[in-house]
Amino acid sequence: MAGIFHRDFQAKPYWWEAYQPTAQDPVEIPARARVAIVGGGYAGLSTALELARNGADCVVLEAAELGFGASTRNGGAVSGGVNIGKGFSGKKLDQDSSRAAAMLADGADAFGLIERLIAEEGIDCHWKKTGRFVGAWTPAHYAAQQKSVALLNGAAKSDAVMVPRARQREEIASDYYFGGMVVERAANLHPALYYKGLLDAARRRGVAVCVLANVEHVTPHDSGFLVRTTRGAVQADEVVIATNGYTGDLTPNLKRRVVPIASHIIATEDLPEDLARSLIPKQRTLSDTRRVLNYYRMSPDGKRMIFGGRPRFTQVDAKTSAPLLHRMMTDRFPQLRDARVTHAWTGNTAFTLDALPHMGRDDGMHYLLGCNGSGVAVMTYMGWQTARKILGLANQPSAFDSEEFPDHPLYSGNPWFLPALGSWYRLRDRLDRTIGNIGAV
Ligand SMILES: Cc1cc2nc3c(=O)[nH]c(=O)nc-3n(C[C@H](O)[C@H](O)[C@H](O)COP(=O)(O)OP(=O)(O)OC[C@H]3O[C@@H](n4cnc5c(N)ncnc54)[C@H](O)[C@@H]3O)c2cc1C
Repeated sequence: MAGIFHRDFQAKPYWWEAYQPTAQDPVEIPARARVAIVGGGYAGLSTALELARNGADCVVLEAAELGFGASTRNGGAVSGGVNIGKGFSGKKLDQDSSRAAAMLADGADAFGLIERLIAEEGIDCHWKKTGRFVGAWTPAHYAAQQKSVALLNGAAKSDAVMVPRARQREEIASDYYFGGMVVERAANLHPALYYKGLLDAARRRGVAVCVLANVEHVTPHDSGFLVRTTRGAVQADEVVIATNGYTGDLTPNLKRRVVPIASHIIATEDLPEDLARSLIPKQRTLSDTRRVLNYYRMSPDGKRMIFGGRPRFTQVDAKTSAPLLHRMMTDRFPQLRDARVTHAWTGNTAFTLDALPHMGRDDGMHYLLGCNGSGVAVMTYMGWQTARKILGLANQPSAFDSEEFPDHPLYSGNPWFLPALGSWYRLRDRLDRTIGNIGAV
């Protein structure tokens, strides 16, 4: 397996070749701001940008470098709802629930918002609306996908169609799946350049984005809050918690409502041109219907495979995750057997106990948390919605804005059970496939 690593291998995101999270030129923490935002990822920056666009002064407080979190590490697949409600158990959104349609409609709005934002702010992040193919892991999964098409097209404007196994090679140079679903209203982008674009847009509007400012305490103060960081304190009328998979002891009440689950990605070296062009003929992003799914795409220049998944549910060394991902990749594409890995990396997502994203208020503070593995559009959207809510500009509450944010009496925020849980769901996936194959024969 050592042979899979390129001689120039680096345990860092491929995306950081274009934008590397930085702590340079730290901005001083202002003494006062109308809104203090904790967390400087897509969620925090999008909240700040919409506040600033409407003249409200705000400060973003980021514990590490700018872009340290998942927002510069993700796969860059953007969808408008197809993953909403899919938790770490693979459980799907209850299609008959009254909230399902509203959630999917917000998912569709999230896609519209990110597309608009990228255009309005002139963000050069290789935005490509090439759609997504979701491969069916079993024939039963294909049938379940078929049932969800009407709801996705009605509520989430997904423009989804089924692709039977006989036509699968139009989507992927592999017979690995039992057909699948194409979602035309889906896109891909360069996640770190999208991050940089949001950062630049917020700064252009005068937002103080403060690096290396770990928020240690938030206490009530006058009619607002005193927010104390490792670099000084700021007094604010409103506080927004946007810490997703890095939510910590600052907000214990929120920490026990999100489970930080790691996701891992590898990038291959540049592939021979014909091979690179043949793998995903329509340049879509791909994922599948397994509980522990894989997601993959070509790099923006079309030369490399970017292949992700959760071979472990916790942060592990790239030397552990890369061989596992490489094997998953060659299970789908045996033709990539000799492709060596140049980059491997990891980051945290946040799963909630009902598998839904949540925004709302706790202890007087606003929060937006719980991307459930898919947050490029949704976390941007919930930031925008949170800002509109603070400004009194929201026409109606988002479907993600609910008082009900479930916890569990046995979970206090320490996810000690993740390794066992990951193994269990991976085993269930394998069993599904075996039983599915037997059923299909
Ligand atoms: C490997 C990987 C692949 C993914 N692939 C996709 C994909 O293809 N498509 C998709 O839609 N989504 C994907 N996601 C999910 C997506 O990246 C996230 O949903 C999104 O980036 C979350 O943005 P955020 O701003 O909420 O959180 P983050 O970007 O994680 O930012 C949270 C920030 O909060 C900061 N913080 C925490 N505590 C404090 C504190 N006390 N004080 C100050 N700052 C604090 C952290 O340092 C961190 O920088 C993926 C995630 C990972 C990890």
